[in-house]
Amino acid sequence: MSRIIIRNGQVISPWQKIQADVLIDGETIAGITAPGAVTWDDAREIDATGCYVFPGVIDVHTHIQLDTGVYKTDDNWEIGTKSAAYGGVTTVVDFATQFKGQTFEQALNHRLEECKPAYIDYGLHMMVTDLSRDPAKAAQDLAALRDMGVPSIKLYTTYKPNYYADDATILHTLRAMPSDMLAMFHCENDDIVADATRRLVEEGKIGWRYHGESRPAIAEKEAAVRIINLLPPEKHAYIVHCSSQQTAFALEHYLRLHIFSSSFYFETCIQYLVLDVQNYEGSHPEHFILQPPLREFRKERINYDLLSLYGKRVISVLSTDHCDYSLAKKQAKNDFRVTAGGLPGLETLLPLSYTLFSDQYEEEHLVYFESDPLMHLVEVLCANPAKLFGLYPKKGILAAGSDADVVIYDPAPQVVIKQENLHTIGGYTPYEGMTVQGKVRTTISRGRILVHEGKFFGEQGHGQFIKGAPFKPSESRSEKRIY
Ligand SMILES: [Zn+2]
Repeated sequence: MSRIIIRNGQVISPWQKIQADVLIDGETIAGITAPGAVTWDDAREIDATGCYVFPGVIDVHTHIQLDTGVYKTDDNWEIGTKSAAYGGVTTVVDFATQFKGQTFEQALNHRLEECKPAYIDYGLHMMVTDLSRDPAKAAQDLAALRDMGVPSIKLYTTYKPNYYADDATILHTLRAMPSDMLAMFHCENDDIVADATRRLVEEGKIGWRYHGESRPAIAEKEAAVRIINLLPPEKHAYIVHCSSQQTAFALEHYLRLHIFSSSFYFETCIQYLVLDVQNYEGSHPEHFILQPPLREFRKERINYDLLSLYGKRVISVLSTDHCDYSLAKKQAKNDFRVTAGGLPGLETLLPLSYTLFSDQYEEEHLVYFESDPLMHLVEVLCANPAKLFGLYPKKGILAAGSDADVVIYDPAPQVVIKQENLHTIGGYTPYEGMTVQGKVRTTISRGRILVHEGKFFGEQGHGQFIKGAPFKPSESRSEKRIY
């Protein structure tokens, strides 16, 4: 196996920022040393002077090659993971869907077959739609799923009749779920969405520009708070893509109460920090159809309310909810009710979030961060996702013995995001024309260089299924979390 030394970069972990060399031996990190301390005759050397060296980004909320039964994304695992590698993402945790009548094992095996061409490593969550009504059988099936390396399940409070789970189903599932698993929830009250949609339809307002109004923020807040109230003792939940500050502030309140033996974690996605509701009034509202929709910010064009909740460690993870639908599908009909929801984002996650977090060093933007904003960025893009989904410390940090998943990020260039420079298949990016600071120079996955200076060196099938270890709440809660 080959050896690589990354020299003179600023190596970033959640607890420190140091000038150091990163030694890679085969698929793992052999050590982090003082610059120049170690020389290997047979090693390839990469000079990272002036660059940051991050652990590979872990996106735990993606939908590569998604088939919902109604819509299909246009990408596959080859296209999706290539685009991820260009963005510095070295692991995704995507979803296997259990369709009605399927066992977990059938659903998992079907998905693993699709994943085979991946260039980067992947884990999977299970979308549960057909759990046995018998409590003992349900508990047994969920424990078996955990033992197959899938310690997380996902449920939806919306999307009748396909994925929707009512409160009784949610309670039944949570009771049956072992305490060392994590339940993920898409939170939008389906009745509130249906009612808002009905009222818009009565007024003839079905165009894309009304999408935001059809899924009001109160629908999300109500469902998120309900999930926390439904959690039985010693059961653990993860609320995906918190989109509005209303929801986030309500969740902060619950964290402060400190009365639960259960625990809960919150994620948001980069689009809810940097894209707002004004996009529905622009010339391409169809580029911004997603659930939950974009929201109104209180100031400027960045959601400082949500960003500050990262600073206070109320929100643990930053992800994308990546869905690569073609523009043709997005534009088929100017009707928000039938337009496929979801945005591509794997390739732009790191540049956008680096720009946002590093900007917090500037006084006029200062959001309260308990630690250095870049150390914090590594926490929410790498370490926390790895801890929550059983991948840590194999993934999520740069340390001796960890997988050699590394990103070299050059902060110097200013780059304007353009679809023509990206590697997705959909034909558009919701971030078109936005300026970001810096770019990914090198992406390494388990010791293999995938991207260097814009060129691609990945090998189809290099990516492996990484089994998630059982969920451990004590290790997942950041020691520094203030609540
Ligand atoms: Zn999603």
